[in-house]
Amino acid sequence: SPVLVLAGVARHYREGMARLDILTNIDLALSPGETVALVAPSGAGKSTLLHIAGLLERPDAGEIYVAGAATSHMSDNDRTALRRNAIGFVYQFHHLLPEFTALENVALPQTIDGLDRREAERRALELLDYLRLGPRARHLPSELSGGEQQRVAIARAVANAPHVLLADEPTGNLDPRTAEHVFATLMSLARNTGLAALIATHNLDLADQMDRRVTLVDGRIVELA
Ligand code: ADP
Ligand code: ADP
Repeated sequence: SPVLVLAGVARHYREGMARLDILTNIDLALSPGETVALVAPSGAGKSTLLHIAGLLERPDAGEIYVAGAATSHMSDNDRTALRRNAIGFVYQFHHLLPEFTALENVALPQTIDGLDRREAERRALELLDYLRLGPRARHLPSELSGGEQQRVAIARAVANAPHVLLADEPTGNLDPRTAEHVFATLMSLARNTGLAALIATHNLDLADQMDRRVTLVDGRIVELA
């Protein structure tokens, strides 16, 4: 059964007197381990869709099911708790905390969520090892390459074993070879851990390596060949 479902999701914005119907009727379902590329021009609504799927923003209409749970009637606190447990985020820029090591950056969100610090760091190191970043664990972000920084951000996003990873142009700031490596990290996590990934990208070579490609047309999801 799917781990993320968007059903009939709509969202508009107002700009002065104008009404912008960004998402009109979004239907999308992701199964465990499935990787889906969201490919659409700038301004089409990719970030809006990812924010709504990630429970960062509420839609005007429709329902989002995360791990089977309907979220529209949940309180903000319950949505936040579900988001922290079930959803990981990766952005174009890594947003690592500059004064903390790679290991601390990965472990910190879990300690904030109440996990014992030693246990959080043990898990973080295991994950960094899996991503072949073990030798970099004690380095500050400024001491890492761009690709390493982004892989640490991926480790941080999946450290609490979420069901779903949402990524907004995760390789948009990287050279092609580094992008390929960072992308391979995402694919390997999805295939080996059952993580479902929805990744907005302009990189068609990378999109071609994913299970499905979708785009946005008039605020709806259209499957690409
Ligand atoms: P994409 O990620 O595909 O570039 P976005 O979801 O960021 O698209 O934005 C879709 C459209 O909605 C754009 O025209 C953007 O300017 C507009 N938009 C996004 N967020 C807001 C907002 N909070 N208020 C008004 N307009 C917004
Ligand atoms: P990104 O693509 O990195 O998410 P965006 O510029 O699309 O960056 O969006 C950054 C933030 O600004 C988002 O929270 C989005 O909703 C908001 N935003 C985007 N466009 C507008 C806009 N025209 N008016 C108000 N807020 C906007």
